[in-house]
Amino acid sequence: MTGFVIEALRIYVTNPPWEYWSFAGWALSKTLTGIDHDTARIFHKTAWWIHTFIALGFIAYIPYSRLLHMITTPANHFMASLKPAGYLEPIRDFETAESFGAGKLEDFTWKQIFDSDACTRCGRCQDGCPAYLSGKPLSPKKLVQDLKTYWLEKAPAADAAKRAGAPAEGEAKPVGKNAVLKLLEKVDGVVDWALRGTKGVGAQEAPEKAMVGEVIDLHELWACTNCMYCQAHCSSSIEHVPKVVGMRQHKVLMEADFGQELQLTFRNMENNSNPWGIGSHLRADWAKDLGVKTLSEDPKVEYLFYVGCSGSFDDRGKKVSVAFAKILKAAGVSFGILGNEEGCCGDSAMRGGNEYLYQTLAQANIEVMKGYGVKKIVATCPHGYNALKKDYPNFGGEFEVYHHTEIIADLISKGKITLKKPVEGLFTFHDSCFLGRYNGLYEQPRSVLKAVPGMKLAEMERSRDRSFCCGAGGARMWMEEDIGERINNMRTDQALATGADRIAVGCPFCLTMMSDGLKARGKEEAAAALDVAEIVWKAMGLEEEKPPVDVCAPPAA
Ligand code: SF4
Ligand code: SF4
Repeated sequence: MTGFVIEALRIYVTNPPWEYWSFAGWALSKTLTGIDHDTARIFHKTAWWIHTFIALGFIAYIPYSRLLHMITTPANHFMASLKPAGYLEPIRDFETAESFGAGKLEDFTWKQIFDSDACTRCGRCQDGCPAYLSGKPLSPKKLVQDLKTYWLEKAPAADAAKRAGAPAEGEAKPVGKNAVLKLLEKVDGVVDWALRGTKGVGAQEAPEKAMVGEVIDLHELWACTNCMYCQAHCSSSIEHVPKVVGMRQHKVLMEADFGQELQLTFRNMENNSNPWGIGSHLRADWAKDLGVKTLSEDPKVEYLFYVGCSGSFDDRGKKVSVAFAKILKAAGVSFGILGNEEGCCGDSAMRGGNEYLYQTLAQANIEVMKGYGVKKIVATCPHGYNALKKDYPNFGGEFEVYHHTEIIADLISKGKITLKKPVEGLFTFHDSCFLGRYNGLYEQPRSVLKAVPGMKLAEMERSRDRSFCCGAGGARMWMEEDIGERINNMRTDQALATGADRIAVGCPFCLTMMSDGLKARGKEEAAAALDVAEIVWKAMGLEEEKPPVDVCAPPAA
């Protein structure tokens, strides 16, 4: 406003021929009548100084106000990670590091701390956070804000402690540029003293709060499903998930302080390379009647079908493995499995904070796969798919990795399989977080479903990149959910709200969660959750369906 007044006074006195281009000042100058030019000049100079002080004062105020994000948010966008979506940097120095994960603020990278400064508190992250919306004590917005408040509390103390540190005996006196920096630090100290009326906050006054446990509550920390909604929708490119996993790593690797259910899961993974602890020698039993070869029998196959733990041990998951193997065989695809040489992909260990276990499992798998010269891998589980595709390359596991819906879509488009048997019912597709937001696979499963004769597909309100998690990611699959509403029930309600009686999925974890949700809602008879592979195999019409056996019927005469 003061700028327009200055402009009006200048135009009033000088009256240049192009004045109307500065239309605001020009219009205002027309109201200045009856002031002589000398008085106007004095007003102009006064207004100029007032304007200068206001403008400079405003700039100086920015770092102390919410307006700081005008600078930090664009900067954070600019410095956003160029790694694949949801990528987690592995711990690379297990042999030499003295601490693991993020137990204190200094354990975060500077970028992770800078993230919190960029938060505009818009709340978009929590609008689709399954933990927040189901009443758990986790809000990604609050998590970022709590970390920011904590670092603002800690920063002056750390700064003062740094300043208080005199050069140790024998330490060289600062010279040249260092001397200037020291001098500037002293000036800073004087300004601090003047502002606070104190000699500065000493290191001994640093807040004693533990970052993990007090600043970030443990229920909050373990409620995250790693669904990545927050990250994908953050207006400031803030990365929430790596912070959560970093803090979990601290609890697991440094303090061995985590839930009993997860302890059992990790022990099972260590002993039997699967979260259930089922004998690893039973891993390939699902395939024994299918004539599927292992790579030890025939390593010269095009694809390794990485079956994963659910596909190998879970009753529902095994049916998906069978359906997919039958599709591949019917299409004449050259593939094999690792059989008992396959191990858990380690995703749940990694996201549950047990990076050491994850790396052990990953390296064992990579060694076996490389031993057979594997080039292409197909997985039915998006968690294994994501780990093999994005995380295994960190340990030398460079493979072409596909999700089974990609392969099926390709087989349909090339005419290698024909879908002729119509399906009944109204379907809705639930986007798995690790397939959709993590890997952008939204179209492939839908194109497969649309190729099925008679397919009626209804979209949920929260679908594609806005999909609502089933509640099983981030190792939550193996933990009890005793706070708030069950996430899988909420997602089931969203699916049923479309009027659908068939929930199609592309993930064994989602399959379990949706099936449980239907049971919880008393809909297990009227509705069903099915994997895309099961729907396709049925639509291929190659298998005669046996009618259910009526055990109450009288024996035939
Ligand atoms: S990853 Fe998902 S569950 Fe975790 S904080 Fe973000 S939105 Fe919430
Ligand atoms: S979406 Fe990003 S900027 Fe907005 S409140 Fe959440 S963390 Fe902050």
